[in-house]
Amino acid sequence: MWNLHQSYIDGAFVPVQGSEQLEIVNPATEQVIGTVTLANRDDAKRAIDAANRAQPGLAGSTKAQRIEMLRQLESAVLARADQICEATMEEYGGPLARSRWVSDYASRCFATTAQMLRDYAFERRLGDATVVMAPIGVAGLIAPWNSTAGSICSKLASAIAAGCASVVKPSEASPLQARIVTEALHDAGLPAGVVNVLLGRGGDVGDELSTNPGIAKISFTGSTQTGKLIARAGLDTMKRVSLALSGKSATVILDDADLATALPMALNAAFMNNGQACVAGTRLLIPNVHMKEAIERLRAEVAAMRVGDPRDAATAVGPLASQAQFERVQHFIRRGTAQGATLVAGGLGRPDGLDKGWFVRPTVFAGVRNDMDIAREEIFGPVLSVIGYDDDEEAIAIANDSMYGLQAYVFSSEPQRALGVASRLLAGTVLINRIAPELIAPFGGVKQSGVGREFGVFGMEAFLEPKTIVATRNLNKEQQ
Ligand code: NAD
Repeated sequence: MWNLHQSYIDGAFVPVQGSEQLEIVNPATEQVIGTVTLANRDDAKRAIDAANRAQPGLAGSTKAQRIEMLRQLESAVLARADQICEATMEEYGGPLARSRWVSDYASRCFATTAQMLRDYAFERRLGDATVVMAPIGVAGLIAPWNSTAGSICSKLASAIAAGCASVVKPSEASPLQARIVTEALHDAGLPAGVVNVLLGRGGDVGDELSTNPGIAKISFTGSTQTGKLIARAGLDTMKRVSLALSGKSATVILDDADLATALPMALNAAFMNNGQACVAGTRLLIPNVHMKEAIERLRAEVAAMRVGDPRDAATAVGPLASQAQFERVQHFIRRGTAQGATLVAGGLGRPDGLDKGWFVRPTVFAGVRNDMDIAREEIFGPVLSVIGYDDDEEAIAIANDSMYGLQAYVFSSEPQRALGVASRLLAGTVLINRIAPELIAPFGGVKQSGVGREFGVFGMEAFLEPKTIVATRNLNKEQQ
């Protein structure tokens, strides 16, 4: 049993002052595996104070010193990779391959950021001015439950590279993963206060971060709904706010695509991370001329998909993270049927043979119209909506008819044609004939999928502000 009752403040694990306790539940078995006590506003204030004490030292550190910190973090997180992977399976239900990817990524993002930092010019000359890219100040890093280790580490890497001390607030729904990552951060031996981590409610600890004058910058990943609350809350103290938000991505299969290779990838894009991914390609746009064949292929692919124990390497889809997530997905499956979509795979309830755990049936709806709820709302589970179209213009119009614009996918056998379509899709990222992202390129959303970019140089610049210094060399000459 895990008993997690500490925050990480000023370089030490300290008892939380909050008193609310939550059970930690294994979503595959519904067994209670531990308890966590949540931090409260007082804990948050202490963490903010500690970060503010550390800020001048970090802001004054050299590039070489920050690269060294990132290297220390990389090694410390890498040393815990197996534990992060284990916690991701145990607490979140992430399938083995996905959990491994997440645990590797957590250390890798420190390495790629260190690499980027080496070549970054913090100073530029513009006319008479020297422009210095200066750290914004203490950052509040707020993470969701569906990518705990990845979100914490990638935000932290950017913040440290920029010279910003941080208070990290992982989701209260992923305490175990957050604890293991925090232990690794502690092992890295950074100066006290540079990184502080507390688990607490969004409306409590999260709101304190969003309103406290000791926080200059919020980097948030989570739902669009919460992002709006944070943007409003941060306004009074004029916080710089980056928001990585919800998605309802379109996957466009062009009529020249090879269905045998494109559809398995499209399904993977839809059901990755058990469908609990902001970038999940949950609207699949298929040319009507190929619809019949595509549906048969999708049905066969889904039937062959293993749902079950996340530790089993053959498992494609594990349990959803919580009962609330299970109920949410059931709601949308009911809604899809009620609004007239045709169920071609999956449906309500648990898969056969699984009577415990928050497992759902990977579900595909065909005959979906883009105005149905299952096409408009982020379901956050393995539910795919197949939408037919007649020509490229219609496909682009349907793909763009969404309040979201995070990541889109295009499949085609003609690179130039795919590029032409990609250039017209309203999304922060478009992947062509692949579903693996490029992790040093900027990542973020357009429209209500977010504000600002993460990763690589753009991710670090979200924690920097240009400061202009104009000096006169010769005072007498200037006065003439
Ligand atoms: P959420 O918005 O419910 O919570 C995210 C975080 O915000 C949590 O730590 C939560 O405690 C905190 N929070 C909640 N209310 C708050 C408030 N009033 N003030 C400050 N903080 C508050 O999201 P979630 O359910 O944890 O995560 C799933 C959502 O995240 C999905 O919509 C998904 O698309 C999105 N997401 C986006 C990305 C991306 O990069 N764009 C990545 C992962 C997840």
